[in-house]
Amino acid sequence: MAAKLKCAKCGHQIDSPKHCNRPMHIGKVAGQDKLVCWMGADCGSAEIPKHCGVAMQEAA
Ligand SMILES: [Zn+2]
Ligand SMILES: [Zn+2]
Repeated sequence: MAAKLKCAKCGHQIDSPKHCNRPMHIGKVAGQDKLVCWMGADCGSAEIPKHCGVAMQEAA
């Protein structure tokens, strides 16, 4: 289960923000990539953090 976000440019990793006590994951909200709660985007969503000027990705 992905619990980290990684910069595609420099490899810097951060812990995924949590919502409802679980790490958020990247999903589509209204056609845009966002961080969403495991309970669903209706529960919570957030902008994906940026690093080196680009949106971070889920670390494999
Ligand atoms: Zn939630
Ligand atoms: Zn970076």
